[in-house]
Amino acid sequence: MNSTVEHIKCLIIGSGPAGYTAAIYAARADMQPVMYQGLQPGGQLTTTNEVENFPGYANGISGPAMMVELEEQAKRFDTDVRTGFINKVDFSGDIHKCWADDGKEIHAETVIISTGASAKYIGLESEQKYLQLGGGVSACAVCDGFFYRGQDVVIVGAGDSACEEAHYLSKLCKKVTMLVRKDDFRASKIMAQRVRKTENIEILFNTETLEVLGDGQVVTGAKVINSATKEEKVISCTGFFVAIGHKPNTDVFKDFIYLDEVGYIKYEEPGTSKTNVAGVFVAGDAADKTYRQAVTAAGTGCMAALDAERYLAAKH
Ligand code: NDP
Repeated sequence: MNSTVEHIKCLIIGSGPAGYTAAIYAARADMQPVMYQGLQPGGQLTTTNEVENFPGYANGISGPAMMVELEEQAKRFDTDVRTGFINKVDFSGDIHKCWADDGKEIHAETVIISTGASAKYIGLESEQKYLQLGGGVSACAVCDGFFYRGQDVVIVGAGDSACEEAHYLSKLCKKVTMLVRKDDFRASKIMAQRVRKTENIEILFNTETLEVLGDGQVVTGAKVINSATKEEKVISCTGFFVAIGHKPNTDVFKDFIYLDEVGYIKYEEPGTSKTNVAGVFVAGDAADKTYRQAVTAAGTGCMAALDAERYLAAKH
């Protein structure tokens, strides 16, 4: 037998709030979970500044600090947390085979997929700079909009998410400027209509961002160009929101797990964490294009661990 094969009860793939919550529950149920943290240990919250809407933190907590606490909590119950990622799976049998980049072949009775989704960004250097600094670039209006109360913000995007987030921001901010790169929305009529009707949202069509401007610490504006007239201008703002879609991190599972057209994992049974493969469960944003919150991810992480525990109990 290959000496690198490891036999375990529960493998958790991904280390956002969904993964860690699954780990806490699975470890306390004596499933001795092994977690591979993935390419971005801590997940999307590590790019969030302050988390003020996770219940239990009366004074808020920074995203990275919260992830450290979650990791410590998972380790307190002996979760085996490993850096590295799973780069191949075979879910065709009763035992689920997974291969990690550290050379290990893992045979798991249950697998909890909590690989999350990655927000897409425009890709400008200046955008990435202020994102890393936590200085005013955000891909989540619900998470960060509160910090821009009474201020002017910009949001990029033209889909349902951008419309929903622009509308959300319009209730908090003085003015929202929406940058749409084509001459029309991609969003559904009703969502676009709601944005058009909101007084403090200005929509600039045919408009692309050239640069996110700042003082070296925080965002102060956006330099944009009208692609039809080639006219450039600067919009002052303190927040630069990007809502151009998410990509679920599910490519590695696509040969075995049912995904929707965008790549989100489909639930086999609504109201559970079950996928189409018995013994493989999903938690968090890898299956959620609607809520995408830390607290909802944590909730589904709990569900996945309980479903995995019940699956094992029924099997043995
Ligand atoms: P979408 O993929 O639907 O839209 C992405 C938008 O971003 C498009 O308008 C696209 O522009 C724009 N975009 C992409 N790249 C860039 C770029 N580099 N610069 C500027 N703009 C860019 O993503 P969403 O997150 O909006 O929605 C995902 C799915 O979730 C959809 O099916 C949507 O209907 C659904 N959803 C539903 C909601 C609801 O019903 N309440 C709420 C939120 C999402 P272009 O049009 O030019 O390609």
